[in-house]
Amino acid sequence: MLYSELADVFERLDATGSRIEMTSILSEFFRTLDPESLRSTVYLSQGKLHPDYFPQEFGMADKLVLRAVSMASAKPYGEVEKLWIKEGDPGTVAALLIKGRGQMTLFSEPLTLERVVKGLTAIESTDGRDSQDRKMKQLFLLLRESGPAESKYLCRIVTGRMRVGAGAMTLLDALSEAFASREDRPEVERAYNITCDIGLVAETVASGGIDAIKNMHVSVGSPIKVMLAERLPSIPLIMEKMGGKCAMEFKYDGIRLQAHISKDSVRLYSRRLEDLTSNFPDVASELRARCKAEEAIIEGECVAVDPSTGAMLPFQTVTHRRKKHGMEKAVEDYPVRMFMFDILFIDGADMTTYPFADRRDRLARAFETSEKIGLTEMEVIESPEDGEAFFARALAAKSEGVMAKSLYQESVYRAGSRGFLWIKYKKDYEAALTDSFDLAVVGAFHGMGKRAGKYGALLMAVFDPETGKYGTVCKLGTGFDDAFLDGLPDMMSGHLSKGRPADVDAQMVPDIWFRPAVVLEVVAAEISQSPIHTAAFGIVKEGAGLGLRFPRFTGRIRTDKGPDQCTAAAELAEMYWAQEATDGPDP
Ligand code: AMP
Repeated sequence: MLYSELADVFERLDATGSRIEMTSILSEFFRTLDPESLRSTVYLSQGKLHPDYFPQEFGMADKLVLRAVSMASAKPYGEVEKLWIKEGDPGTVAALLIKGRGQMTLFSEPLTLERVVKGLTAIESTDGRDSQDRKMKQLFLLLRESGPAESKYLCRIVTGRMRVGAGAMTLLDALSEAFASREDRPEVERAYNITCDIGLVAETVASGGIDAIKNMHVSVGSPIKVMLAERLPSIPLIMEKMGGKCAMEFKYDGIRLQAHISKDSVRLYSRRLEDLTSNFPDVASELRARCKAEEAIIEGECVAVDPSTGAMLPFQTVTHRRKKHGMEKAVEDYPVRMFMFDILFIDGADMTTYPFADRRDRLARAFETSEKIGLTEMEVIESPEDGEAFFARALAAKSEGVMAKSLYQESVYRAGSRGFLWIKYKKDYEAALTDSFDLAVVGAFHGMGKRAGKYGALLMAVFDPETGKYGTVCKLGTGFDDAFLDGLPDMMSGHLSKGRPADVDAQMVPDIWFRPAVVLEVVAAEISQSPIHTAAFGIVKEGAGLGLRFPRFTGRIRTDKGPDQCTAAAELAEMYWAQEATDGPDP
């Protein structure tokens, strides 16, 4: 297949804002591809060569790409850079300059998808001495054979700007439409959530149809999207939602790890699918030693503990284990304990389809516990009073709250979804007017007065997985200490954007835009309908979004969360409705 056909599809996707139209463009195109090209195509649509859990790094900064563009367009570097300062995106610059260029090579062969994948793989794997020059040369070789649209997307892919708007959800829509039916969409999404590999799902559905998709199971070594909890503002409301009875567990304040245990190795993944095995080698070896099965996938929360008393320590302590260097010392200095709370697979059995009670029981039988690993504290609760008592016990043990888990038969492990099968309740929620949110930084405003020369406030957003867009929810200027403010420009420097990023919806215009990457924890007094903020736009009220009143940074940077894992638009709307309910029904 020619790469120009794919670039043409990207152009058409870029030109439409309608998800329905994107789905139909993609599904029509997908039907024309063989399964292998389809696999590469869906990865490339997301700017990648691999599944989600594979860290994708081309290692090419804008200026390096501009050098390749300069060579490919035969324009002086200064001219290319000038245009880049104006346009902000090397892809747009490449398209503009290459448009005016004549034929580059006399007998040039058209660029195939296969050659593009090969070239990008070469860029990705080039390292060592002169790697920058060699990467640049590889890109030049591809650009030399490219027309304007082709070069635009090559440059966007290598600089991590590939956002044609076709998020994973749209790709899944298109795959279902092309190779199965609309009713099969939930099965296709389930396959994606348990494999985190949209390329594999595409290849499977294209070659084996929906039956092959139904046959996909979780497997050791391929991370599973984590199940997430909803929240409610009080224990009695939780008990009511759970039908009067549920399992309650301590909600530990640490780092969630998904452990893939095989016969002689263990891999640990964060909830963002990063491989954290090297940060927790002690946990990995303990899990292998204490697991009675040959293979298993389990989840738990890793918490720092005081070595002399075994008492749990605050979240900040365990983050020392997130360092890149000096791990050996950190392992010694910051002992942790893993509190296991779920099992997703054991010796050939996919446990994700079993009810929670069965999973918990199987988990308890699969391990010997020790100082380093144990089960979460759990009790079956049958009244709000018992729930309150359990909550008090959780706080006394330095947990941040409780997790209520449904005991219904249908309480399966819903990979990648947030629902009321799990409900979290934290200490913060007790004071009805403080609720915490994890928000993505999308912009900054210059400071004034005491903050002159620094960032004075940040523009914060929630994510809507349905549309793949970030909507703004507040301007945040409170809760920052001097050290945080001084470090902010550095922390954000890798995420600067020349204009509003394509996946950010905003009416408020900050002085500086950022691509969503950094997540901060924020508390606020109230959620209110907002004429200027775009979070959950149109969900609560037509033509209005939701905003936070009196937002304050808690001091906690959520390095464990990706921007797409911040508070979701629908969750914010739920919280708004819950808040309205506790304030009393509308007259
Ligand atoms: P939050 O990060 O506030 O959305 O809360 C959900 C997180 O709580 C999960 O992703 C886990 O990391 C953590 N957690 C702590 N204790 C438990 C537990 N007993 N069961 C499930 N998740 C837990």
